[in-house]
Amino acid sequence: MGEALGENRIASYHAHIYYDPDSSRGRAERVREGIASRFPVRLGRWHDRPVGPHARAMFQVAFETAEFATLVPWLMLHRDGLAVFIHPNTGRPREDHLKHALWLGAVLPLKADVLPETETETEAEVGPEAGGAGHPSAA
Ligand code: ZN
Repeated sequence: MGEALGENRIASYHAHIYYDPDSSRGRAERVREGIASRFPVRLGRWHDRPVGPHARAMFQVAFETAEFATLVPWLMLHRDGLAVFIHPNTGRPREDHLKHALWLGAVLPLKADVLPETETETEAEVGPEAGGAGHPSAA
């Protein structure tokens, strides 16, 4: 069953919470606090400037597959109008972002040209806190 759906190839997920630094950062802070107080996730740093494939300001939430069934419904109800982009991590960033992802709220553009077909060592995501401002690993 799971094999046919390829579920066992999903190592983890990211949710990217988009916001406008000028108008919706406060809402994003409340969503972030709500996540942090409820779920065992890894919260990435604030990116007020676009980074990686993301065309707008956002922060990343990295989480294990076991959290999907509770975190994603919580985001559905509590994202407070913010656009949320959720993608699996299968080792194929281009497909993960462009083909297999889901959006809550608005669908925003992605910079597809920076997404490699397969994850290489330099492009591999190494934990959300490892990248500095503008670091390309914030995919
Ligand atoms: Zn990501």
